[in-house]
Amino acid sequence: MLMHICCGPCTIHPLKALRIHGHDVTGLFYNPNIHPYLEFSRRRQTLQDYAQKILLNVIYPEGYPLEEFLSQVAARPQERCVYCLTNRLKFTADLAKKENYDAFTSTLLYSRFQKHDLIRQIGETLSWQTGIHFHYEDFRIGWNEGVKISRELGMYRQPYCGCIYSEKERFCK
Ligand code: SF4
Repeated sequence: MLMHICCGPCTIHPLKALRIHGHDVTGLFYNPNIHPYLEFSRRRQTLQDYAQKILLNVIYPEGYPLEEFLSQVAARPQERCVYCLTNRLKFTADLAKKENYDAFTSTLLYSRFQKHDLIRQIGETLSWQTGIHFHYEDFRIGWNEGVKISRELGMYRQPYCGCIYSEKERFCK
């Protein structure tokens, strides 16, 4: 299974839940929505360190298409999440199809702060379009355990969702 990964802390519970059920998981860190670059780099490094510990193979596509992301959302920032989620899940579904995975999923289904139903709807639509199974699971049930473990491991936990708009919403009161 190819699992889109948004960050290290959100990987803990979904990976554990999938492995318990016998899934062979490969990660994919594709997140042009994380701004600025140093924040992107810090989240990626946190995942790299964790992936090494738990022997998880992760794909890190080259590049950082910030300009493309902004050009798609700048005109209607209030609707940005639809593009953001679709873009990341579509990249995952397309790669899963190209590389002959049986299924794809996302750690975004773990977050209590994400638009859970929208993520599920987008994943299922992409599944229908690509013919690759979308593994839906409500990973939010492991939220407390994931937070606890990430704190015990001293992992970096980001204070905002990712884009510059979410950073403003978090800090510019
Ligand atoms: S708030 Fe989060 S999900 Fe929405 S566009 Fe920004 S980074 Fe993406």
